[in-house]
Amino acid sequence: MNKIQYPVLELDLGQLKENLAALHQCCQDSSVKMIGVIKGITADKEVAKLYDAEGLSYIATSRIDQIRHLKEYGLKTPLMLIRIPMLSELQDVVSLCDASLHSDVTVLRALSKEAEKQNKVHQVMLMIDLGDLREGFWDPEELIDCAVEIEKEHPYLELIGVGVNLSCYGSVKPNLRNMQGLVSLAADVEKAIGRELPFISGGASTSFYMLQNGSMPMRVNNLRIGELILTGQINGYEPGITHLSACKLKAEVIEVREKPSFPVGELEVDAFGEVGHYEDRGIRKRALVAVGRVDYGDPFTLTPCMEGVEVLGASSDHTILDVTDAKEEIRVGDVLTFRVKYSSLVYLSNTESVQIRYVDPN
Ligand SMILES: *Cc1c(COP(=O)(O)O)cnc(C)c1O
Repeated sequence: MNKIQYPVLELDLGQLKENLAALHQCCQDSSVKMIGVIKGITADKEVAKLYDAEGLSYIATSRIDQIRHLKEYGLKTPLMLIRIPMLSELQDVVSLCDASLHSDVTVLRALSKEAEKQNKVHQVMLMIDLGDLREGFWDPEELIDCAVEIEKEHPYLELIGVGVNLSCYGSVKPNLRNMQGLVSLAADVEKAIGRELPFISGGASTSFYMLQNGSMPMRVNNLRIGELILTGQINGYEPGITHLSACKLKAEVIEVREKPSFPVGELEVDAFGEVGHYEDRGIRKRALVAVGRVDYGDPFTLTPCMEGVEVLGASSDHTILDVTDAKEEIRVGDVLTFRVKYSSLVYLSNTESVQIRYVDPN
């Protein structure tokens, strides 16, 4: 393999494969079809191949440029766009995707025209907003009318189901109440169109706990899972069947020095215009690693793997660590490993400044 150039995002393909298999099995045990969401790792090719081999109902991402890459990989699993399409990208939506999520009748009518033009049937799922206040119809009647219109007037659109998105903007937790709301809406749609819907999609990783504790209503038969596959946990919920550090950041130390812990001089704001918080702990041994906020967003989403290493903060290109109590002596040139959260993974996998390397069991 080519020369290692840090920082590195290290993906353990064996562990990711096991995460996928464990979560998929759990879904199947509850008669839930799993959609594998891959945006958290920017549709990485090797990870996409794992998703493809797992035999999921769709591989999904929010962006058409990632869908285009997935298409190039020649996967056999159908592809789904999970951000409501822009009017300006409908040509690609039809030609590259098998399915997409919707909340706007204007987009659907234009999509119908485009699908007819390309002589290709496109699958659509209608999203209902049950309080999280991101995408989705707010008025159930409007969604039902839209479903009937698709069914009757748009032969190039195939309505495959209804879905909900939670825990994203409004941080609304999936529970029995909102899942029953979804099921009841699905029943109304089915009555209006006179057939059963193949998919009733109860959300993302944050809904998975309901499968494990047996509280998911029977009729919810689909989840769109991303974060749980990649980081093994979601908002601190660990299903107990996943690896928690399949994706790790490795960064190289460029300075180790004893310095005061409180800045010296007149304080203003930091490089991002924020007022810093500094605790005076006297002279401490600090290490700088060559990776920064441009690469991962928020430094406090990183967890150092070495005991006694603490993240103090970061600027665009530097991360500052307190290594006074580090378990091992840290020197310039050493490589330190960090566990990452989803919110840093999305950046780390999406920049050419970070090399992706694979731990491959084969
Ligand atoms: C990102 C996304 C998902 C997957 O969310 P995870 O938390 O990664 O499981 C599912 N559905 C939609 C609409 C999304 O945008």
